[in-house]
Amino acid sequence: MPRRNGESLRIAVQSNGRLTGYSLELLKDIGLEFEDHERRLFTRCRNFPVELLFLRDDDIPEYVADGVADLGIVGLNVIHEKRAEVDRLVPLGFGFCTLTLAVPANASIRSPSELEGARIATTHPVSLARYLDEEQIGAEIVELAGGAEIAPALDVADAICDLVSTGTTLRIHDLRQIGDVWDSEAWLVASPGLDEGSGRSALVKRLRVRLDGLLTARRLKYVTLNAPREALPRIREILPGMRSPTVVPLADSGMVAVHAAAQEEVFWEAMERLKEAGATEILVLPVEKVMR
Ligand code: ATP
Ligand code: ZN
Repeated sequence: MPRRNGESLRIAVQSNGRLTGYSLELLKDIGLEFEDHERRLFTRCRNFPVELLFLRDDDIPEYVADGVADLGIVGLNVIHEKRAEVDRLVPLGFGFCTLTLAVPANASIRSPSELEGARIATTHPVSLARYLDEEQIGAEIVELAGGAEIAPALDVADAICDLVSTGTTLRIHDLRQIGDVWDSEAWLVASPGLDEGSGRSALVKRLRVRLDGLLTARRLKYVTLNAPREALPRIREILPGMRSPTVVPLADSGMVAVHAAAQEEVFWEAMERLKEAGATEILVLPVEKVMR
């Protein structure tokens, strides 16, 4: 690994897995340009003092906690599981999954409380142990390195505790969900050793402003429409997240054009109601970046 450049930030990302594409896309969207990383451990950013370190996701919390990396992008589930002392900065809106409990579809168990005395296979023993403890369920944890979903079929366990997103894997293995331990998503985490006032913490601040701008923009929509002036109160009711809209009179008397950023997803239902309220030419546009 190249020597640590004191004034540049090191960000740990998953080298090859579910979070890799989203993580790199996010960094690109906040303006960081990287060489194609292929399978290297390490790559430098062309236009910002940032280096990327590619790791297995399981190693990211510890590297960030120890200050080997200043920032990391990793699932909340891994942070919990590794009991890592990292500062959680921002949830990133991808890598959604749930640590869930499941049993064979034909088992009589209906709820987690019925797992008393059962053997539960998992790759998340720390998280499961904490859950069982909190819920006061006396079950045996069968710790596996992977493939928990096949453990019941092999009679290695009576239940599993595993990550799911759509539930397809559970269905394929003929398993039925009986309860959730917790929901997870990818987070930007920081090393607690990052000195306030240092060059690196100033860089983290700059990246956070960009990230906030990007994540806010993703929630925003830009809405334009034409409507009779008297329909305005009704339109504002339908789009409560619309901040100080620009209202411009049109050549047709009594008609106005409304332009506004809406702090909400604008669904087809809302558009139908806008139309009923008298709006026409309704456009909903994505917002790319924001700075306030
Ligand atoms: P590595 O080789 O880096 O250890 P891995 O096999 O442990 O990879 P992945 O399967 O790539 O990890 O998952 C990475 C992260 O993606 C998980 O820790 C979790 O936060 C998230 N994730 C999202 N959906 C799912 C899912 N359905 N199953 C497992 N993880 C998911
Ligand atoms: Zn892993």
